[in-house]
Amino acid sequence: MARVIDGKVLASGVRAEVKAGAVALRAASGVIPGLAVVRVGEDPASKIYVGGKRKAAAEAGFNAWEHHFPATANQAEVLDRITQLNAAPEVHGILVQLPLPPQLDGDALIRAVRPEKDVDGFHPLNAGNLLLGRPTARACTPAGVMVVLEHTGVKVAGAHAVVVGRSNIVGKPMALMLLHADATVTVCHRKSDLAAEIPRADILVAAVGVPGLVKGEWIKPGAVVIDVGMNRLPDGTLRGDVEYEAAAQRASWITPVPGGVGPMTIALLLRNTLDAARRAARA
Ligand code: NAD
Repeated sequence: MARVIDGKVLASGVRAEVKAGAVALRAASGVIPGLAVVRVGEDPASKIYVGGKRKAAAEAGFNAWEHHFPATANQAEVLDRITQLNAAPEVHGILVQLPLPPQLDGDALIRAVRPEKDVDGFHPLNAGNLLLGRPTARACTPAGVMVVLEHTGVKVAGAHAVVVGRSNIVGKPMALMLLHADATVTVCHRKSDLAAEIPRADILVAAVGVPGLVKGEWIKPGAVVIDVGMNRLPDGTLRGDVEYEAAAQRASWITPVPGGVGPMTIALLLRNTLDAARRAARA
């Protein structure tokens, strides 16, 4: 039976470190880390996520601002705000909450954020630096998964890691981080034979968005199972991409949904913002 990874406890450890770092930065330089979140429209999940990010930032001793636009906002007005935030010295981190309404070009908005302030790690420059293995702001969810793996004590170097999903915000950066940690990495997507690939995984990361896609019987005995999926069922409950009960019978470690990877994402966002504030204080 797998040991369950408590993402809330792990995340509170990271958040406590970040808070202590923010106190030290303020004492040394007077700089207070500042996070600005741009939200467009009324997506209910986005509203909750942004609320959570602001609350977590405030608890870490940061300044946090939300810039909310109506669903009808046009590209120019959102771009204009990003330009202002790029120039504001009290703002160290800017994130554009996804998804955006269809009339907006999200890629262009993300490219408009100054790379130094891109605390989501989504800007092409930061994504490229990750590819090249250079220090950079790294995408928060996969960076959180790396902290989770470290916590298990499982050796990543030499392990066979299978990542299911190849999005720019989770799957691809996850595969790169595992590769930089010397795992042998397989990336799966819609055309992959999951029943053939997943049983070879010492470390499995599922980031798909399909509840229960990963069958418990596919899990290699003793594997570490990290479930990034957050799927809202019609009854309102949250479910991961992995058949949790069956997978837990075979895995050595497993993350629950909710309470696994989710809390880590916000903790790593705070860490990225503190790092950006430290760089600004040195500049
Ligand atoms: P996405 O839709 O952008 O990407 C999904 C990926 O899964 C794609 O690469 C696609 O090829 C692959 N895929 C889809 N159906 C598949 C199938 N049947 N078989 C194999 N591969 C398939 O999604 P995303 O933004 O990467 O998010 C993935 C999941 O992770 C979602 O449930 C999302 O809510 C969740 N998520 C959680 C956090 C967190 O903080 N815990 C953060 C980001 C995303």
